[in-house]
Amino acid sequence: MEPTSLGQVSHNGTTDVDAVVIGAGIGGLYTVRRLAADGLSVVGFDSASDVGGVWRHNGYPGARVDIEAYFYCYFDPEIYGQWQWTQRYPPQAELLAYLEHYADHYGLRKYFQFSTKVEELHWQPEANRWRVRTNTGATVYARHVVMATGQLSKSRQLPFEGVEDFAGQWLETSHWPAEPVDLTGKRVAVIGTGSSGAQVIAAIAPEVESLHVFQRTPNYVVPSQNAPLDQDRYRKYSENLDELWDQVMRTGVAYLAPMTDVPASSMTPEQQQQRLDDQWAFGGLSMTFAFPDQKTDWNTNDLVSNFVRGKIRGVIANPALADKLEPRDYPIGTRRLVVCNGYYETFNQDNVHLVDLRTDSINRVTATGIETSAGFVEVDVIISALGFDAFTGALDSIDIRNADGQKPTDDWDRGPNAYLGLMVHGFPNLYTLTGPGSPSVLVNFNVHNVFHANYVADLISFMDEHGHDTVEATREAQDQWHVQTQQAADGLLRKQVKNYMVHVNNDGSRVFIPYAGGWSTYVDIANGIAGQGYSGFAFAKREQSTLAAAQ
Ligand code: NAP
Repeated sequence: MEPTSLGQVSHNGTTDVDAVVIGAGIGGLYTVRRLAADGLSVVGFDSASDVGGVWRHNGYPGARVDIEAYFYCYFDPEIYGQWQWTQRYPPQAELLAYLEHYADHYGLRKYFQFSTKVEELHWQPEANRWRVRTNTGATVYARHVVMATGQLSKSRQLPFEGVEDFAGQWLETSHWPAEPVDLTGKRVAVIGTGSSGAQVIAAIAPEVESLHVFQRTPNYVVPSQNAPLDQDRYRKYSENLDELWDQVMRTGVAYLAPMTDVPASSMTPEQQQQRLDDQWAFGGLSMTFAFPDQKTDWNTNDLVSNFVRGKIRGVIANPALADKLEPRDYPIGTRRLVVCNGYYETFNQDNVHLVDLRTDSINRVTATGIETSAGFVEVDVIISALGFDAFTGALDSIDIRNADGQKPTDDWDRGPNAYLGLMVHGFPNLYTLTGPGSPSVLVNFNVHNVFHANYVADLISFMDEHGHDTVEATREAQDQWHVQTQQAADGLLRKQVKNYMVHVNNDGSRVFIPYAGGWSTYVDIANGIAGQGYSGFAFAKREQSTLAAAQ
């Protein structure tokens, strides 16, 4: 079979390419661009109608990023200086427009098949290729497959009885309709108060007739102190992007932020207070790094938790309501901090009502609303903001099989685990960008995706230079990396608290899923491994590696 031209997949036909990239978000777009620039034939797939990934799907009112725009972008000389961000924390529409601009600038859409879901990825050992099948009937053979599907893309479904009976409008923050949704004058319920729930709640409260917020666990919600982007600062960065990249690579979180090495115990109470005030004024995630020891020391963490609790109580007029909204039973930063402006103020409005699921439970959904143990809430619209099936969801939504018929997640009953977060033993030439065992959700996804995409592209170049057909993580390297990942999380308060980054085994032992040793440490380790000829990766040359052998 002759390979077809780039990106042209004939319906019901087959194509043989160097690489398939799944996902047209931040990571997928960059990967396609880099691999194509390296001269590889590439086909991308995305189930959405166009580029953007999470920033296309999560188009709910109020959606915006919680990392500053100076760093939540490609450090690309052809793009950075051309693009005008308006705010420190841009809204979803601006982020989507940016990714569309990136795709336009590099002509990336031609590589992608949109509105196409990959259903099957089966390794064909006799051909050293993945056979990729889609819901549109296309079959593509690829030497390499890059999963740029993200760690937070497969959403949780409402587990309540009667959900299918609801006759009103259902909306999901993670799959918000592309066409405008008018909630003016509607009676609305929002279930879930994580980052997505909080943002949609604060955004729609002024326009809806009534808003019932179903809260299971109160979160710490902090304002971002959003403001117009500092254009002078942005211009300075744009003039030396290499230096900016180097600086960011030396941070713990893959973006520049007001960090300190001085532990709280070395500060006077006045200095501690000043530090807290400064971080609050800076806004957003900076409250998770007011002091370096707040992640491991209960007393230091108390300083920050109490400071933010005080801010919460300062906003909510009704003390009984404040009791329900204030997080008391876990330390700040041990679950993802929620960044949202005006969240607590919302609850001072007469049309906003809290349903506390710690005292009242949802019995069922009916045609007209939600029945709880405390009564019935009649609504026109239910918005589900339940979060994601993190780390495993996107992988499990495709039937991925290696030569032995195993799935990458089969071995993960004691926690997800991949070498450097990138490769799973037994799955040759399959790369999981920002996967479990990488810093992933703990750092700036944009920089992380670019680093991983370059890492994969360099690895493929290395294979081509050395005549290798396949690469996979060795069992030993993957197991050893898992140990290192757990050691990096030792002592973290976050590992002791229920949250989506922790996998709890049946015997009660806990596995921390992302690599918590810090971004720069991870980068040094990964680069060191590459510098040693990719130690821990096993390469092979196979004689019979023709596509014909698989057909
Ligand atoms: P999330 O943080 O996992 O929040 C899900 C919410 O749904 C929680 O309040 C959870 O309660 C609740 N929930 C889940 N199952 C429930 C059930 N059966 N009954 C009642 N409530 C239930 O999800 P998310 O808000 O979509 O955010 C996920 C991640 O996406 C964030 O951590 C962040 O990394 C990213 N994100 C970032 C931004 C941003 O600001 N840039 C915006 C949106 C999302 P419990 O807490 O009790 O489980």
